[in-house]
Amino acid sequence: MALRLFNTLKREIEEIVVRDPDKRRVGMYCCGPTVYDYAHIGNYRTFVFADLVRRYLEFKGYAVNHVMNITDVEDKIIARVKSAGVTLRDYTAKYETAFLEDMATLRCVRPHHLPRATEHIPEIIELISRLLARGVAYQAPDGSVYFSIERYRGCGCRYGQLLNLDLDSLRPGERVSNDEYAKEAVADFALWKARVPEDGAVTWPSPWGEGRPGWHVECSAMSMKLLGPSFDLHLGGEDLIFPHHEDEIAQSEGADLQPAGEPFVRHWLHGAHLLVEGRKMSKSLGNYFTLRDLLAKGYAGREIRYLLLSAHYREAFNFTLENLIGARTALNRLDDCVTKLRELAGPVTASPDPTLIESIRTALDEDLNVSAAWAALFDWVRELNRQIAGQTLSAEPAAAAVAAWEAVDRIFAVGAPAGLEIPAEITALLEQRQAARKARDFPKADTLRDTLLAKGWAIEDTPKGPRLKPR
Ligand code: AMP
Ligand code: ZN
Repeated sequence: MALRLFNTLKREIEEIVVRDPDKRRVGMYCCGPTVYDYAHIGNYRTFVFADLVRRYLEFKGYAVNHVMNITDVEDKIIARVKSAGVTLRDYTAKYETAFLEDMATLRCVRPHHLPRATEHIPEIIELISRLLARGVAYQAPDGSVYFSIERYRGCGCRYGQLLNLDLDSLRPGERVSNDEYAKEAVADFALWKARVPEDGAVTWPSPWGEGRPGWHVECSAMSMKLLGPSFDLHLGGEDLIFPHHEDEIAQSEGADLQPAGEPFVRHWLHGAHLLVEGRKMSKSLGNYFTLRDLLAKGYAGREIRYLLLSAHYREAFNFTLENLIGARTALNRLDDCVTKLRELAGPVTASPDPTLIESIRTALDEDLNVSAAWAALFDWVRELNRQIAGQTLSAEPAAAAVAAWEAVDRIFAVGAPAGLEIPAEITALLEQRQAARKARDFPKADTLRDTLLAKGWAIEDTPKGPRLKPR
């Protein structure tokens, strides 16, 4: 069955039709992080959504070429480089590494390309030169180069493809009277920012003088370099629809590199925000948790991933710690069932039971309906638990169920790793906790349990004694 997703460009759910004549290869670009600080879990909601899209495309047999840019030059970065007194690269390397570690903790498959803006200055300059040559960009008296929305529209191009913009309220043609702006019209945006003293050493030579690229043009230059001037999927958080993605379209289509009749991007996918008490989780509001904040509280990457994947990608949802506890409970139920299935299957292997796989496929094919997918999964768990409890499940169907779960978990990536060895340090902590309980030193026993949780292990007290489970 075909995959259907909501295309912001069409404002409707439509079948994904890729450019490759063999319908196998997919080019996918997701706007990546600005590496000025640790990312918060709102940012990661968008990246986990992109990972789900990639994994699901691969599950369906596509060969995905996945690109995610690293924005490593930008106002906030420059301000921090200056106050930290380090080089740009030294400053951003720390947060880029942290970002990649966080992505691994959240079990996101690493994109095939992670281009850095600072390593694509020649491509950016080339694109800007082309826009100037085509007459849709201009150099202002301060040396900066701007994209002219008025001139772009004058060429018959449409600004406002993703959003029905009220262009009159945007005043595209209005002259800027404020001295602060060198640009011709308020709606124009910078392609190249002329160097100012505050930029310090963060500057590059260009045909227009020293300066640095604007944010929007980085994505156009890097996506077209790695995926071609016209490609299949472009993703990001919904706050990027305007102006960032609208500007990406304008720059890329303004350069007129696409084959006749082809857009810059066929399918635009946008993830809704993660909220906190009804407001967008953001650094500026101060209402955020980094991934590391949550790991320090003892939650595991896969629990956070499950929570971020529990709501439909186009629905805003509120983050709470209670929700995270709910995620843990749900995963425990799943882990217990899979552990029992593995015990029952023993060494027996079988091909995957298609029932679970088919219901997940049906749900995800329709605009990644995760609610239906999770419901199908937990119905399956309930039914298997019933059979396990009734001792009616033999080794072969148990093995087929395990195989089905493993296939599904290549999409969701939330399962507990099978056959994990328990490190000696962890076993020692468990023994100390048992000794504390025996001595009726319950506060100490509880502290040891929390230490184990923080190290990623939960204790389950069973009639046969305590059992350690990875979380
Ligand atoms: P930034 O590092 O600010 O460029 O943002 C990286 C990505 O995170 C972008 O795709 C944003 O749309 C996305 N993003 C930012 N805040 C949130 C949020 N609260 N929920 C979901 N995605 C977000
Ligand atoms: Zn972008």
